[in-house]
Amino acid sequence: MAPIALVTGASSGIGAATARRLAEDGYEVVVAARRGIRCEQLAEEIGGRALRLDVTDERSVDALVEAVPRLDVLVNNAGAALGAESVEGADPEDWQRMYDLNVIGTLRVVQAMLPALRAEGGGTIVTVTSTAGSVAYEGGGGYCASKFGERALVDTLRLELSGHPVRVIDIAPGMVKTEGFALTRYRGDEAAAKRVYEGVDSPLTAEDVAECIGFACGLPLHVNVDRLVVRPLAQA
Ligand code: NDP
Repeated sequence: MAPIALVTGASSGIGAATARRLAEDGYEVVVAARRGIRCEQLAEEIGGRALRLDVTDERSVDALVEAVPRLDVLVNNAGAALGAESVEGADPEDWQRMYDLNVIGTLRVVQAMLPALRAEGGGTIVTVTSTAGSVAYEGGGGYCASKFGERALVDTLRLELSGHPVRVIDIAPGMVKTEGFALTRYRGDEAAAKRVYEGVDSPLTAEDVAECIGFACGLPLHVNVDRLVVRPLAQA
C-alpha cells in the first residue's frame, strides 16, 4: 500500500508543488484546500485525492478524520498574510484572521490528524512556517505575530511528542514567488504584489520549498529535521 500524505493549502503555490513532489516520491496525496476545483484538477494530474478543506472551519476539519483515517505525512501549509499596514495603521480584525488561519488552523488540523498518524505507527508532521516566524519586518506585524505563534506551536508539539514515533518538522522559507501570497498580502493589487519580488534577485520558487519538504520526509524515520530555514541567496 502506498504511504499517504495530506497537504493543506494544496490548491496553489508551495502546497501544490509539495503535492506534486510527494506524489513523485510514491505517496498517495490528499490535496486539500477551499478551492475544490483546483484540488480536483491537481489530484487528477498526480493520481491523488481531492478534499475541500477550510482549516478555519471546525466542521470542515472534523470531516478530515473520517476522510483520512490513516496517514503517514501531514503537511500544514495553508496560510496567508493579509495586509501590509504598519502596526499603528493595522486593522485588528486582520490580525485575528491571520491568527485563526496560521495558528488555530494548524492546531486544529494537527489535533484532528494525530490519531491517523498514530494509526500507522507514527509519521511526519511538516509545517510551513516562515522566516517571518523568527524575524519581524516593517508592515508584517500581524503576519509575523501569527508565524511566531505557529512556530511556537510546532516547537511545543515536538517537545510533547518526543519519545513518540512522530517527527515534527518546521520548514521556514524566506521569500518565495508564488501565485497567491503577495496578491493576498496586497489585497488583490497586482502592481503592488509584483513590486515585492523586484527587490530580491531570484526569489525561491514553490518547487524549491517542495524539494526541501521532500528531502526532509525522505530521510529515515529516526532522523528529524527540526527546522529547515531556506531563503534566496540574495535575501539578507
Ligand atoms: P498561496 O497563496 O499560493 O497558497 C496559500 C494556500 O493556502 C492556497 O492553496 C489556499 O487555498 C490555502 N488556504 C488559504 N486559506 C485557507 C483556509 N482557510 N483553509 C484551507 N486552505 C487555505 O501562497 P504560498 O504558497 O506562498 O503560501 C503557502 C504557505 O507558505 C503559507 O503558510 C505561507 O505563510 C507560507 N510562506 C510563504 C512564503 C512566500 O514568500 N510565498 C514565505 C514563507 C512562508 P484556497 O484559497 O483554495 O483555500
